[in-house]
Amino acid sequence: MKIQSGISLKPYNTFGIAARAERFAILRSEEDLRTILRANIAPLHLLGGGSNVLLTKDLPGLVLRNELKGIHVEKETETEVIISAGAGELWHELVLWSLAHNFGGLENLSLIPGTVGAAPIQNIGAYGAELKDVFEKLEACDLERGERRIFRAEDCRFGYRNSIFKNELKGRCLITRVWLRLSKSPTLNLSYRILADSLRNKGITDPGVREVSETVIAIRQSKLPDPARIGNAGSFFKNPEVPVQLYQSLKENYPDLPAFPLPGNDGQVKLAAAWLIEKAGWKGRRIGDAGVHEKQALVLVNYGNASGIDILNLAREIQHDILEKFAIDLQPEVNIW
Ligand code: FAD
Ligand code: NAP
Repeated sequence: MKIQSGISLKPYNTFGIAARAERFAILRSEEDLRTILRANIAPLHLLGGGSNVLLTKDLPGLVLRNELKGIHVEKETETEVIISAGAGELWHELVLWSLAHNFGGLENLSLIPGTVGAAPIQNIGAYGAELKDVFEKLEACDLERGERRIFRAEDCRFGYRNSIFKNELKGRCLITRVWLRLSKSPTLNLSYRILADSLRNKGITDPGVREVSETVIAIRQSKLPDPARIGNAGSFFKNPEVPVQLYQSLKENYPDLPAFPLPGNDGQVKLAAAWLIEKAGWKGRRIGDAGVHEKQALVLVNYGNASGIDILNLAREIQHDILEKFAIDLQPEVNIW
């Protein structure tokens, strides 16, 4: 394994921010992992596809990009299958692999950028499905103790775009492999109206997992910027979970404010951050090369040469404005480095 010095991270983050890593290495094997642990370079920054990070400075220490590969069927019954995937596999490649085998469970999570190993970090979710719905277990290297650990679903404390790896164990565990339980006769999740409507509009009345995946891909391509063309990290902020009373008082001034119940939490509702940002007039606005995407206000974009600080300053202005207008404190979903 080669440990390089002074590497530009521009090709390694989807915002396309030109920060540098003091040291940089690619993890491809168990042997590479032992080399890294022995080298003991601090701080260690764990990187997958770089699609959920904002680089605001050059990074001291070592940036370790995960490219551990391999997809295996571990166990199979008549109705379901347990598969495992190396943390450095691309998430969408795994989705395509599962569809090619007619395994269901990942179709709503089609076209999410990044790696398998990062999926548990924020319990990736889209169109009413979350990683936790299919999660079996994961293997990680505890970087403090230098030992292998297995985490079952309950150990990961999955929440809405959240897990133990974004909190108590932040930066402490390097995920190496993830196991998922997929179905051979899946129940489709068409709870998101846009998904059900798009299938109906295409004349598909009895969809299978492939039709659902293709429809999710088409919807996403119609409204989300392609990071290969315009730098971005998807939704910059989390959708806020607020007390019902706050929602009710806002609704008096904004009758069309969308809100969604949070299962198991009667006192709170989820609001659409994109709606708040658009209502506050930010959609399509641009400050230098940092901007708010014209089709999806939750996505901040780099039109070319924005720095991480330019994006962060724009995010702060939006946060401040949303707090003033709606008394809601938006929190970033993107990891700020
Ligand atoms: P990175 O950005 O490389 O890392 C993210 C975090 O995970 C960092 O804190 C990093 O240290 C940590 N990490 C990465 N790999 C490991 C590992 N092996 N072990 C331990 N820690 C690790 N997210 C959704 O949930 N739903 C969506 O629908 C969605 N759509 C998106 C659309 C676009 C266009 C973009 C650009 C992003 C979108 N995202 C979405 C966000 C992002 O794709 C996901 O969060 C994804 O899981 C990040 O993967 P990554 O490999 O790029 O992680
Ligand atoms: P959308 O369909 O326009 O919906 C707007 C918001 O309303 C979403 O944030 C969604 O919450 C919520 N919503 C809509 N229908 C819902 C329902 N039936 N039940 C509960 N909540 C509902 O959203 P979009 O921006 O085009 O994104 C589509 C999906 O892809 C969403 O699930 C979104 O989370 C996901 N996505 C995520 C990222 C990311 O970076 N995290 C980027 C792009 C898209 P949720 O966000 O909680 O689903």
